[in-house]
Amino acid sequence: MSKSFFENVLEQIDATAENMSLDSGIHKMLRQPERELTVAIPIEKDTGEIEVYTGYRVQHNSARGPCKGGIRYHPDTNLDEVKALATLMSLKCAVANVPFGGAKGGVTCTPSKLSKKELQKLTKRYAAMILPIIGPRSDIPAPDVNTNAETMGWIMDAISMYKGSTVLDIVTGKPLELGGSLGRREATGRGVMINTVELLKKLNKNPKETSIAVQGFGNVGSISAELLVEQGCTINAISDVSGGLYNPDGLDIPKITKYVNSKPQISLLKDYNRKKDDEIISNQDLLELDIDVLVPAALENQIHSDNADNIKAEIIVEGANGPVTKKGDEILSERRIYIIPDILANSGGVVVSYFEWVQGIQSFFWGVDEVNKNLKNILLKSFDEVWKISKEEKATLRDAAFLLAMGKIAKATELRGIFP
Ligand code: NAD
Repeated sequence: MSKSFFENVLEQIDATAENMSLDSGIHKMLRQPERELTVAIPIEKDTGEIEVYTGYRVQHNSARGPCKGGIRYHPDTNLDEVKALATLMSLKCAVANVPFGGAKGGVTCTPSKLSKKELQKLTKRYAAMILPIIGPRSDIPAPDVNTNAETMGWIMDAISMYKGSTVLDIVTGKPLELGGSLGRREATGRGVMINTVELLKKLNKNPKETSIAVQGFGNVGSISAELLVEQGCTINAISDVSGGLYNPDGLDIPKITKYVNSKPQISLLKDYNRKKDDEIISNQDLLELDIDVLVPAALENQIHSDNADNIKAEIIVEGANGPVTKKGDEILSERRIYIIPDILANSGGVVVSYFEWVQGIQSFFWGVDEVNKNLKNILLKSFDEVWKISKEEKATLRDAAFLLAMGKIAKATELRGIFP
């Protein structure tokens, strides 16, 4: 039987712990989230019927600071997935050196089947149910798959009503009008672009001669594609849950983005007036295309033992969390394919979330140039640290990023000492 997402993350933690001779007590602490909360979310549907959804909030590790992580709405969301994502968040915050631990939340639901009014009720009830464990100094949610700035505004409102005053710093990724940060919406995609360009530079490759396929055309995938085009790269293929488009000469990304952003819940393949030579492909075809860089930016477990041998890209940049399983990763590393791991590649989002949190606390908001400049500085520093460890230890970029992250969390834990 294939391993679960959380089991895959644990395998990587175990391998790194052995590699760095990590203290066995700290290893045990990293294998188990600090808190796991499962909640029932009853809402009255538009029809008057009551439906009950299940939601989760998991806090993995708070040794380095308050927990931080997104909230996902998806029919397949379950506790195992949320635990895996929370663990990756602790590691990601440590790689980026932002003063946060890791958390994640999710609600098992199909957002496309809910009206906006129902989604708002679901969000506010979920926020109320996880209120006992979240807070600006303890655990700060943010958007993830199928949630966005509007969702964060609803959470902020629900918590503010309970507290009796507006609490801006309870969530990040909020609308600008409600204390959001300039550059937050684009931050994860911008980070994917910065990491990709940096690796191309290290490998003496020219972005203008680089062909790219992007799986997933939501917040992360679409913005990564747009910004990589600005760097001169060619995006040959993109996809969403409905399937993909391929053009050997490159797709018209600005036109497709405008179309996708024009209506909520739009599907890439439905109604889009393709150029004559744009071909329709499946998500599986996209992963196996003969291109230079593959950016999986949809969901976990996309590249695994059954398809890793068929991947032709020389570089994989993990826009999504956990898109490559542990077995898939072993096959790709043996084939010497470079992988920029999720905990480095998609850390732009949490870095600007940190900036948003800081701006909210200070009630003083920065210009977009300042946000982007600070983001780039942090990401380049993290990239260099991971690159240096990978050279020194003759390790993959994933192994190096895990070594860096687990080392920092272990140090913080030692310095604090075990309570009581
Ligand atoms: P999103 O909801 O904005 O977009 C998800 C996209 O993936 C959509 O285009 C959807 O159609 C597509 N998709 C869903 N299932 C698919 C499938 N089986 N095959 C192909 N495409 C599929 O979500 P997002 O915020 O862009 O998140 C994408 C990934 O990036 C997730 O793994 C998320 O955890 C990770 N991530 C997001 C952020 C952020 O700031 N939003 C930060 C770090 C990591």
